[in-house]
Amino acid sequence: MKATIFSSKQYEKEYFHAANIQHQHELRFIESALSVETISAAQGTQAIIAFVTDTVSAKILELMHKLNIHYVATRSAGYDHIDIQRANQLGIRVANVPDYSPYAIAEHAIMLMLALNRKLLLGQRKMYDGNFSLEHLTGFDMHGKTVGIIGTGKIGLTSAKILHGFGCNILGYDLNPNPNAAQYAVHYTNLETLCQKADIITLHIPLTAATQGLINRTLITQMKPGVMLINTSRGRVVDTQAVIDSLKSGHISAFGADVYENEKDLFFVDHSGEILQDDLFARIKSFSNVIITGHQAFLTDVALKNIAQTTLLNLEHWQIGKTCANELTSLK
Ligand code: NAD
Repeated sequence: MKATIFSSKQYEKEYFHAANIQHQHELRFIESALSVETISAAQGTQAIIAFVTDTVSAKILELMHKLNIHYVATRSAGYDHIDIQRANQLGIRVANVPDYSPYAIAEHAIMLMLALNRKLLLGQRKMYDGNFSLEHLTGFDMHGKTVGIIGTGKIGLTSAKILHGFGCNILGYDLNPNPNAAQYAVHYTNLETLCQKADIITLHIPLTAATQGLINRTLITQMKPGVMLINTSRGRVVDTQAVIDSLKSGHISAFGADVYENEKDLFFVDHSGEILQDDLFARIKSFSNVIITGHQAFLTDVALKNIAQTTLLNLEHWQIGKTCANELTSLK
C-alpha cells in the first residue's frame, strides 16, 4: 500500500525500513505534522500513518475523503487524537498499535518514581558541584509502601508486576478490573479509598471524556498528604494548575510526568534557544521535586520495532481484505 508517514522522526525510519524489508509498501516520509496545510503531501497515497501529535480531526478526515485516502494507521496505543466517530461515518478505516511494549511505559513510570524518591537529579547536581553532603537526599524504602494504580490494563498491570517485586502493597482502580491482577496481589478499591491510602499514585488510563481532568483539585485534596503522583498516560488526565498549587502547599511531595496537557505545542521539537511561552509549563518544570520527560516513555528499541511492524501489518491486512484486529470503531 502507498502510505504517507506524517511527523516522521529520524529515530523511527530504520525500524520502518526493516519492517518493510520486502518493499510491500511504498512509504512517503514527511517531517511536518498532519494539518489542513500539509495533508496535500499525502495525495496519491491510500493511507496516512499518524503520530500522537497529528490531530486527525473531522476536518482532516473530510479532506482525506476528498483525496481518496481510506486508511489511518496511528503508530501509537492511544487514539484520543483521532475523531473515530467521523472516520466511521466517512468509511475511513482506523487502527492503532495497542500493545507494542507495556514494559517500556511501565519501566519509565517506575524510573520516575525511583528518581524522585532517591532525589537523583539533586544528587547529580550536587555531585557535579563537588558537594558530597547527603543533606536533602533522604528517600524512602519502596518496600512496604502503598502504591495506587489508576488503570490496570496492559501498562498498569505491568507496573503492578514490578511494584509487587519491590514488596509494595498495591491498590487498583479500574472500571474493568483485570482478571490477572490477583497474581500481583492488586487489591481493587474505589477511587476515593485509593487516593486516601496510597503513598504513590500512578496513572495508566486512556484519555476519554470520563478521564479528562480526573486528577483535579477535589481529588488531590482527598490524597494522602505527601503523596507522589506519576503520570505517563495522557497530559489532559491531570489538571496541571491544581498539581502546581498542591506542590506549593506540600500536599503533593513529588510529581513525575512523561506527558503534559499542552504538550502538543511543545514536545517532540527542538525549542532550545526560543523564549518559553507556556507559563504553566514554566512553573511546573521549575520545582526541584518534579521530573518531566518529553513523552519518551515509549521510546525503546523493542517498542519501535513492534510499532513499525504492527503499523505495516495493519495496512497489509486492509490491503488483502483480511480482518484487521487493531481496527478501531467509536464503540470500542
Ligand atoms: P489498556 O487499554 O490496556 O488499559 C487501560 C485501562 O484503563 C483499562 O483497564 C480500562 O478499563 C481502564 N479505564 C478506562 N477508562 C477508565 C476510567 N474512566 N476509570 C477507570 N479505569 C478506566 O491501555 P494501556 O496499553 O495500559 O495504556 C494506557 C494508556 O497509556 C494509553 O491509553 C495511553 O494514553 C498511555 N500511553 C502512554 C505512552 C507514553 O509514551 N507515555 C505510551 C503508550 C500508552
